[in-house]
Amino acid sequence: DDPGNVKVVVRCRAFVKRETEKGTQCLIRMDPATQKTVLLAPNDSDGNPNTRRVYEDKEFIFDKSFWSHDEADPHYAHQEDVYRSFGEEFLDHNFDGYHTCIFAYGQTGSGKSYTMMGTPDNPGLIPRTCEELFERIQQEPSPSTNYHVHVSYFEVYNEHVRDLLVPRTNPPLYLKIRESQTDGVYVQNLTEAEVKSYADVERLMRVGDMSRTTASTKMNDTSSRSHAVFTIQLKQIQHSLLSDTTIERTARMRLVDLAGSERAKSTEATGQRLKEGGQINKSLTTLGRVIAALADPRRHGNKGRRSRDVVPFRDSVLTWLLKDSLGGNSKTAMVACIAPADYEETLSTLRYADQAKRIRTRASVNQDCMS
Ligand code: ADP
Ligand code: MG
Repeated sequence: DDPGNVKVVVRCRAFVKRETEKGTQCLIRMDPATQKTVLLAPNDSDGNPNTRRVYEDKEFIFDKSFWSHDEADPHYAHQEDVYRSFGEEFLDHNFDGYHTCIFAYGQTGSGKSYTMMGTPDNPGLIPRTCEELFERIQQEPSPSTNYHVHVSYFEVYNEHVRDLLVPRTNPPLYLKIRESQTDGVYVQNLTEAEVKSYADVERLMRVGDMSRTTASTKMNDTSSRSHAVFTIQLKQIQHSLLSDTTIERTARMRLVDLAGSERAKSTEATGQRLKEGGQINKSLTTLGRVIAALADPRRHGNKGRRSRDVVPFRDSVLTWLLKDSLGGNSKTAMVACIAPADYEETLSTLRYADQAKRIRTRASVNQDCMS
């Protein structure tokens, strides 16, 4: 076993047009030397005495603070920099046989999809990872090592799982979750497409993203309410002629684009939000409870085993499916995405991320040896 903490990085995006036009003030500072992120109190205290709030500067330290706010800055973090700093490392882990998971957390519009999927001109972690995966496979020097790669892509919306790689149907087809001794938790009948090249993956990413987008124009704003989970499964088969043994390693990488974190706030589930038909996002609120339980220092004490039982993984679809990624056999990272000018949402994201730093997982190599 290889125990380790969840790696937590934070990324601050540039102003979007709307913010630039309003002359918005940037509330984030990052120090590249210490990886410190500072959230500054906004100086425009709002005049309404009923909504008067106390703001103060807040400081956090993460494994990495990515400054993607201002391209002119010498420390500006491009998509490539984000990938090089930990996407690449996670791909190494996969080749070593470990399961990995990277998930993006943050309010709607904070840069989650940009970080995970990116744009055709500026691809994000998912396309970069897949492209490099195939480069490495092609460079494999040993003729006795074979690779098989499968990809799946699904979304969790209102506690339903939908396959993003099959055409939409009306009524929609929802898949069931199953748990077995041998396979752990899995989605039944989910498409696991075999891919032979990066071009194959590219095509599937496009199919999946289209399926997500089509939905978002019909039902308002699906992508802010749904969680998208892209999974790459890498199987390596090494045959040794000398000893006539076969070693098989199967590792999975999960890349998760979560629903907007503003959906997690049950206290703010106002009439308007209920009218949208979305209620609060059960998977997201449960994720918060799971993270809080896993980060609880008492869990690591001598009562460890007992308190493990109370982690509410099974209370929502997403946390159940990500059980291993969050609290078990996986090397896991969280990218906390923040907007530069939203004090309260950003504070809540940074606190969430700060808590996630305390989560420990135990990854082990997933390997079978046959002779
Ligand atoms: P989310 O998925 O969290 O709702 P998006 O990824 O869609 O947010 O980002 C919102 C907008 O900000 C998009 O127009 C996106 O292209 C832009 N954006 C986000 N992050 C960056 C970044 N690091 N650099 C440039 N533009 C960004
Ligand atoms: Mg998005």
